[in-house]
Amino acid sequence: AKDNGGGQYHVYHPEMFQRVAHRVMLEGEVRQALAKQQFSLSLQPQICAKTKRLYGFEALLRWQHPERGMISPEDFIPILENSQHMIELGYWIIRRCFELAVAIKKYGLTNSRIAINLSAGQFIDSNLPHFLTELLLEFSLRAQDFELELTEQTLVKDMDHTIAMMQSLKRIGFSFAIDDFGTGYSSLAYLKKMPVDVIKIDKSFIFGMLENHSDFQIITSTIAMVKNLGLIVVAEGVETKAQLRSLTENDCDIIQGYYFSKPIPEAELFAVLDKHTTA
Ligand code: C2E
Ligand code: CA
Ligand code: CA
Ligand code: CA
Repeated sequence: AKDNGGGQYHVYHPEMFQRVAHRVMLEGEVRQALAKQQFSLSLQPQICAKTKRLYGFEALLRWQHPERGMISPEDFIPILENSQHMIELGYWIIRRCFELAVAIKKYGLTNSRIAINLSAGQFIDSNLPHFLTELLLEFSLRAQDFELELTEQTLVKDMDHTIAMMQSLKRIGFSFAIDDFGTGYSSLAYLKKMPVDVIKIDKSFIFGMLENHSDFQIITSTIAMVKNLGLIVVAEGVETKAQLRSLTENDCDIIQGYYFSKPIPEAELFAVLDKHTTA
Protein backbone atom coordinates (compact mmCIF):
# COMPACT_ATOMS: atom_id res chain seq x y z
CA ALA A 1 0.00 0.00 0.00
CA LYS A 2 1.17 3.53 -0.76
CA ASP A 3 0.83 6.37 1.67
CA ASN A 4 -0.43 9.28 -0.41
CA GLY A 5 -0.10 11.77 2.38
CA GLY A 6 -2.17 12.43 5.47
CA GLY A 7 -2.15 8.77 6.41
CA GLN A 8 -4.49 7.90 3.55
CA TYR A 9 -3.88 4.58 1.82
CA HIS A 10 -4.84 3.49 -1.64
CA VAL A 11 -7.40 0.76 -1.41
CA TYR A 12 -6.28 -1.17 -4.46
CA HIS A 13 -2.73 -2.18 -3.74
CA PRO A 14 -0.98 -4.70 -5.96
CA GLU A 15 -1.10 -7.62 -3.54
CA MET A 16 -4.83 -7.31 -3.26
CA PHE A 17 -5.20 -7.19 -7.02
CA GLN A 18 -3.07 -10.30 -7.29
CA ARG A 19 -5.18 -12.09 -4.75
CA VAL A 20 -8.40 -11.24 -6.59
CA ALA A 21 -6.87 -12.23 -9.91
CA HIS A 22 -5.64 -15.47 -8.43
CA ARG A 23 -9.06 -16.20 -7.05
CA VAL A 24 -10.84 -15.52 -10.34
CA MET A 25 -8.34 -17.72 -12.16
CA LEU A 26 -8.78 -20.52 -9.66
CA GLU A 27 -12.55 -20.36 -9.85
CA GLY A 28 -12.45 -20.80 -13.60
CA GLU A 29 -10.00 -23.66 -13.29
CA VAL A 30 -12.05 -25.53 -10.71
CA ARG A 31 -14.96 -25.91 -13.06
CA GLN A 32 -12.65 -27.24 -15.78
CA ALA A 33 -10.86 -29.46 -13.32
CA LEU A 34 -14.17 -31.02 -12.27
CA ALA A 35 -15.03 -31.72 -15.89
CA LYS A 36 -11.60 -33.10 -16.63
CA GLN A 37 -11.56 -35.26 -13.51
CA GLN A 38 -8.45 -33.74 -12.02
CA PHE A 39 -9.82 -34.05 -8.49
CA SER A 40 -9.61 -37.18 -6.42
CA LEU A 41 -9.76 -38.15 -2.78
CA SER A 42 -7.16 -39.74 -0.59
CA LEU A 43 -8.31 -41.69 2.42
CA GLN A 44 -6.38 -41.66 5.67
CA PRO A 45 -7.10 -44.52 8.10
CA GLN A 46 -8.16 -43.74 11.66
CA ILE A 47 -7.20 -46.46 14.11
CA CYS A 48 -8.63 -47.34 17.49
CA ALA A 49 -5.79 -46.77 20.02
CA LYS A 50 -6.63 -49.67 22.34
CA THR A 51 -7.66 -52.38 19.87
CA LYS A 52 -5.63 -51.21 16.83
CA ARG A 53 -8.74 -51.80 14.77
CA LEU A 54 -9.82 -49.61 11.89
CA TYR A 55 -12.33 -46.98 13.00
CA GLY A 56 -12.72 -45.21 9.68
CA PHE A 57 -11.10 -42.96 7.10
CA GLU A 58 -10.84 -39.23 6.62
CA ALA A 59 -11.39 -38.17 3.01
CA LEU A 60 -8.85 -35.59 1.83
CA LEU A 61 -9.12 -33.74 -1.46
CA ARG A 62 -6.35 -33.90 -4.06
CA TRP A 63 -6.00 -31.79 -7.21
CA GLN A 64 -3.70 -33.14 -9.88
CA HIS A 65 -3.18 -30.10 -12.10
CA PRO A 66 -1.81 -30.81 -15.61
CA GLU A 67 0.83 -28.03 -15.46
CA ARG A 68 1.19 -27.21 -11.80
CA GLY A 69 1.29 -30.76 -10.48
CA MET A 70 -0.32 -31.77 -7.23
CA ILE A 71 -1.86 -28.72 -5.56
CA SER A 72 -2.42 -28.85 -1.81
CA PRO A 73 -6.01 -28.30 -0.64
CA GLU A 74 -4.59 -25.73 1.76
CA ASP A 75 -3.56 -23.65 -1.26
CA PHE A 76 -6.94 -23.44 -2.94
CA ILE A 77 -9.80 -24.32 -0.58
CA PRO A 78 -9.38 -21.16 1.55
CA ILE A 79 -9.36 -19.05 -1.64
CA LEU A 80 -12.49 -20.68 -3.02
CA GLU A 81 -14.28 -20.47 0.31
CA ASN A 82 -17.66 -18.72 0.09
CA SER A 83 -17.81 -19.08 -3.67
CA GLN A 84 -20.38 -21.06 -5.61
CA HIS A 85 -17.43 -23.08 -6.93
CA MET A 86 -16.62 -24.40 -3.48
CA ILE A 87 -20.22 -25.50 -3.05
CA GLU A 88 -20.09 -27.28 -6.40
CA LEU A 89 -16.75 -28.88 -5.58
CA GLY A 90 -18.15 -29.74 -2.15
CA TYR A 91 -21.06 -31.59 -3.74
CA TRP A 92 -18.60 -33.51 -5.88
CA ILE A 93 -16.53 -34.43 -2.78
CA ILE A 94 -19.59 -35.64 -0.86
CA ARG A 95 -20.87 -37.74 -3.77
CA ARG A 96 -17.42 -39.29 -4.21
CA CYS A 97 -17.34 -40.15 -0.50
CA PHE A 98 -20.64 -41.97 -0.90
CA GLU A 99 -19.27 -43.92 -3.87
CA LEU A 100 -16.19 -44.84 -1.86
CA ALA A 101 -18.30 -45.84 1.15
CA VAL A 102 -20.16 -48.31 -1.06
CA ALA A 103 -16.86 -49.74 -2.38
CA ILE A 104 -15.43 -50.02 1.15
CA LYS A 105 -18.50 -51.90 2.34
CA LYS A 106 -18.30 -54.23 -0.64
CA TYR A 107 -14.68 -54.87 0.27
CA GLY A 108 -15.93 -56.11 3.64
CA LEU A 109 -15.29 -53.20 5.99
CA THR A 110 -18.93 -52.87 6.94
CA ASN A 111 -18.48 -50.86 10.13
CA SER A 112 -15.96 -48.27 9.08
CA ARG A 113 -17.03 -44.71 8.46
CA ILE A 114 -15.83 -41.93 6.22
CA ALA A 115 -15.17 -38.50 7.67
CA ILE A 116 -16.02 -35.72 5.23
CA ASN A 117 -14.55 -32.24 5.64
CA LEU A 118 -17.17 -29.53 5.17
CA SER A 119 -16.19 -25.95 4.54
CA ALA A 120 -18.08 -23.06 6.10
CA GLY A 121 -19.68 -22.14 2.76
CA GLN A 122 -21.01 -25.66 2.29
CA PHE A 123 -22.50 -25.61 5.74
CA ILE A 124 -24.38 -22.38 5.14
CA ASP A 125 -26.00 -23.89 2.04
CA SER A 126 -29.60 -24.63 3.04
CA ASN A 127 -29.87 -27.40 0.43
CA LEU A 128 -27.30 -29.58 2.26
CA PRO A 129 -29.70 -31.76 4.31
CA HIS A 130 -31.81 -32.46 1.23
CA PHE A 131 -28.72 -33.29 -0.83
CA LEU A 132 -27.44 -35.72 1.82
CA THR A 133 -30.83 -37.37 2.31
CA GLU A 134 -31.15 -38.00 -1.42
CA LEU A 135 -27.67 -39.54 -1.54
CA LEU A 136 -28.45 -41.88 1.37
CA LEU A 137 -31.41 -43.19 -0.61
CA GLU A 138 -29.55 -43.37 -3.91
CA PHE A 139 -26.65 -45.37 -2.44
CA SER A 140 -28.59 -47.30 0.24
CA LEU A 141 -26.24 -46.07 2.95
CA ARG A 142 -26.88 -44.98 6.52
CA ALA A 143 -25.97 -41.59 7.95
CA GLN A 144 -23.96 -43.59 10.52
CA ASP A 145 -21.56 -44.51 7.72
CA PHE A 146 -20.29 -40.92 7.76
CA GLU A 147 -18.91 -38.31 10.08
CA LEU A 148 -19.02 -34.63 9.17
CA GLU A 149 -15.95 -32.59 10.10
CA LEU A 150 -16.38 -28.91 10.85
CA THR A 151 -13.67 -26.50 11.86
CA GLU A 152 -13.90 -24.03 14.67
CA GLN A 153 -14.07 -21.21 12.12
CA THR A 154 -17.27 -22.66 10.68
CA LEU A 155 -18.82 -22.96 14.10
CA VAL A 156 -18.22 -19.39 15.17
CA LYS A 157 -19.31 -17.81 11.88
CA ASP A 158 -23.03 -17.85 12.50
CA MET A 159 -23.73 -19.80 15.65
CA ASP A 160 -27.51 -19.90 15.48
CA HIS A 161 -27.60 -20.95 11.86
CA THR A 162 -24.86 -23.52 12.43
CA ILE A 163 -26.66 -25.06 15.39
CA ALA A 164 -29.90 -25.28 13.41
CA MET A 165 -28.09 -26.96 10.51
CA MET A 166 -26.33 -29.38 12.87
CA GLN A 167 -29.60 -30.28 14.53
CA SER A 168 -31.35 -31.05 11.27
CA LEU A 169 -28.44 -33.23 10.06
CA LYS A 170 -28.28 -34.86 13.49
CA ARG A 171 -31.94 -35.83 13.15
CA ILE A 172 -31.06 -37.65 9.93
CA GLY A 173 -28.38 -39.52 11.90
CA PHE A 174 -25.13 -37.80 10.95
CA SER A 175 -22.45 -37.32 13.58
CA PHE A 176 -20.12 -34.36 13.90
CA ALA A 177 -16.43 -33.98 14.54
CA ILE A 178 -14.80 -30.70 15.50
CA ASP A 179 -11.60 -30.43 13.49
CA ASP A 180 -8.40 -28.62 14.49
CA PHE A 181 -9.60 -28.45 18.08
CA GLY A 182 -7.72 -25.95 20.20
CA THR A 183 -6.66 -23.63 17.39
CA GLY A 184 -9.78 -21.44 17.40
CA TYR A 185 -11.30 -19.02 19.86
CA SER A 186 -14.28 -20.28 21.76
CA SER A 187 -13.76 -24.01 21.87
CA LEU A 188 -15.50 -24.56 25.16
CA ALA A 189 -18.61 -22.49 24.50
CA TYR A 190 -19.72 -24.52 21.53
CA LEU A 191 -19.07 -27.85 23.19
CA LYS A 192 -21.90 -26.86 25.49
CA LYS A 193 -24.24 -25.59 22.80
CA MET A 194 -23.67 -27.88 19.85
CA PRO A 195 -24.49 -31.52 19.18
CA VAL A 196 -20.89 -32.65 18.79
CA ASP A 197 -19.78 -36.31 18.88
CA VAL A 198 -16.05 -36.26 18.17
CA ILE A 199 -13.18 -33.88 18.95
CA LYS A 200 -10.04 -33.92 16.82
CA ILE A 201 -7.01 -32.51 18.62
CA ASP A 202 -5.04 -30.46 16.10
CA LYS A 203 -1.77 -31.91 14.90
CA SER A 204 0.14 -28.80 15.94
CA PHE A 205 -0.24 -29.98 19.56
CA ILE A 206 0.76 -33.55 18.74
CA PHE A 207 4.03 -32.83 16.89
CA GLY A 208 5.94 -31.61 19.95
CA MET A 209 3.88 -33.26 22.66
CA LEU A 210 6.77 -35.26 24.12
CA GLU A 211 9.19 -32.32 24.13
CA ASN A 212 6.89 -29.45 25.00
CA HIS A 213 5.38 -29.59 28.46
CA SER A 214 2.46 -27.26 27.78
CA ASP A 215 1.44 -29.10 24.58
CA PHE A 216 1.44 -32.30 26.60
CA GLN A 217 -0.70 -30.73 29.34
CA ILE A 218 -3.14 -29.30 26.79
CA ILE A 219 -3.50 -32.72 25.16
CA THR A 220 -4.01 -34.71 28.33
CA SER A 221 -6.48 -32.26 29.81
CA THR A 222 -8.37 -32.04 26.52
CA ILE A 223 -8.64 -35.82 26.40
CA ALA A 224 -9.88 -35.92 30.00
CA MET A 225 -12.45 -33.20 29.37
CA VAL A 226 -13.71 -34.70 26.12
CA LYS A 227 -14.10 -38.12 27.74
CA ASN A 228 -15.89 -36.61 30.73
CA LEU A 229 -18.38 -35.09 28.30
CA GLY A 230 -18.94 -38.57 26.85
CA LEU A 231 -17.44 -37.69 23.47
CA ILE A 232 -14.85 -39.45 21.31
CA VAL A 233 -11.37 -37.95 21.01
CA VAL A 234 -9.13 -38.27 17.95
CA ALA A 235 -5.46 -37.28 17.76
CA GLU A 236 -4.31 -36.28 14.28
CA GLY A 237 -0.73 -35.96 13.08
CA VAL A 238 0.58 -38.91 15.09
CA GLU A 239 3.91 -39.78 13.50
CA THR A 240 5.86 -41.79 16.07
CA LYS A 241 5.47 -44.86 18.20
CA ALA A 242 6.29 -42.80 21.30
CA GLN A 243 3.43 -40.40 20.56
CA LEU A 244 1.09 -43.33 19.99
CA ARG A 245 2.10 -44.93 23.28
CA SER A 246 1.68 -41.75 25.27
CA LEU A 247 -1.71 -40.96 23.70
CA THR A 248 -2.92 -44.51 24.33
CA GLU A 249 -1.75 -44.37 27.96
CA ASN A 250 -3.61 -41.11 28.36
CA ASP A 251 -6.86 -42.60 27.09
CA CYS A 252 -7.07 -41.12 23.60
CA ASP A 253 -9.64 -43.10 21.57
CA ILE A 254 -8.61 -42.77 17.94
CA ILE A 255 -5.24 -42.22 16.24
CA GLN A 256 -4.75 -40.70 12.80
CA GLY A 257 -1.34 -39.94 11.32
CA TYR A 258 1.64 -40.99 9.29
CA TYR A 259 2.68 -43.52 11.96
CA PHE A 260 -0.14 -45.78 10.83
CA SER A 261 -0.63 -44.47 7.32
CA LYS A 262 -0.38 -41.46 5.07
CA PRO A 263 -3.55 -40.59 3.17
CA ILE A 264 -3.99 -43.32 0.53
CA PRO A 265 -4.98 -42.27 -3.00
CA GLU A 266 -8.41 -43.72 -3.74
CA ALA A 267 -7.08 -45.67 -6.72
CA GLU A 268 -4.61 -47.50 -4.45
CA LEU A 269 -6.88 -48.01 -1.45
CA PHE A 270 -7.81 -51.65 -1.88
CA ALA A 271 -4.34 -52.76 -2.93
CA VAL A 272 -2.94 -51.15 0.23
CA LEU A 273 -5.64 -52.69 2.42
CA ASP A 274 -4.98 -56.11 0.85
CA LYS A 275 -1.31 -55.82 1.74
CA HIS A 276 -2.15 -55.03 5.38
CA THR A 277 -4.56 -57.88 5.88
CA THR A 278 -2.31 -60.49 4.27
CA ALA A 279 0.90 -59.23 5.92
P1 C2E B 1 -7.29 -31.27 8.01
O1 C2E B 1 -8.74 -31.48 7.84
O2 C2E B 1 -6.82 -30.86 9.35
O3 C2E B 1 -6.61 -32.62 7.53
C1 C2E B 1 -5.49 -33.20 8.14
C2 C2E B 1 -4.24 -32.86 7.38
O4 C2E B 1 -3.13 -33.37 8.09
C3 C2E B 1 -4.17 -33.50 5.99
O5 C2E B 1 -3.47 -32.60 5.14
C4 C2E B 1 -3.33 -34.75 6.26
O6 C2E B 1 -2.66 -35.23 5.10
C5 C2E B 1 -2.35 -34.21 7.26
N1 C2E B 1 -1.77 -35.24 8.12
C6 C2E B 1 -2.35 -36.36 8.59
N2 C2E B 1 -1.51 -37.07 9.36
C7 C2E B 1 -0.34 -36.38 9.38
C8 C2E B 1 0.92 -36.59 10.03
O7 C2E B 1 1.15 -37.58 10.74
N3 C2E B 1 1.88 -35.66 9.82
C9 C2E B 1 1.66 -34.56 9.05
N4 C2E B 1 2.66 -33.71 8.88
N5 C2E B 1 0.49 -34.32 8.43
C10 C2E B 1 -0.51 -35.22 8.60
P2 C2E B 1 -3.98 -32.29 3.66
O8 C2E B 1 -4.53 -33.54 3.05
O9 C2E B 1 -2.91 -31.56 2.96
O10 C2E B 1 -5.20 -31.32 3.89
C11 C2E B 1 -5.00 -30.04 4.40
C12 C2E B 1 -6.29 -29.35 4.76
O11 C2E B 1 -7.09 -29.07 3.60
C13 C2E B 1 -7.19 -30.20 5.65
O12 C2E B 1 -6.75 -30.16 6.97
C14 C2E B 1 -8.52 -29.51 5.43
O13 C2E B 1 -8.61 -28.34 6.20
C15 C2E B 1 -8.43 -29.13 3.96
N6 C2E B 1 -9.15 -30.16 3.18
C16 C2E B 1 -8.67 -31.32 2.66
N7 C2E B 1 -9.64 -32.00 2.00
C17 C2E B 1 -10.76 -31.26 2.13
C18 C2E B 1 -12.12 -31.42 1.68
O14 C2E B 1 -12.52 -32.40 1.05
N8 C2E B 1 -13.00 -30.41 1.99
C19 C2E B 1 -12.63 -29.32 2.72
N9 C2E B 1 -13.57 -28.38 2.99
N10 C2E B 1 -11.37 -29.14 3.17
C20 C2E B 1 -10.45 -30.10 2.88
CA1 CA C 1 -10.27 -32.67 8.79
CA1 CA D 1 -7.48 -31.35 11.37
CA1 CA E 1 -5.82 -28.49 9.67
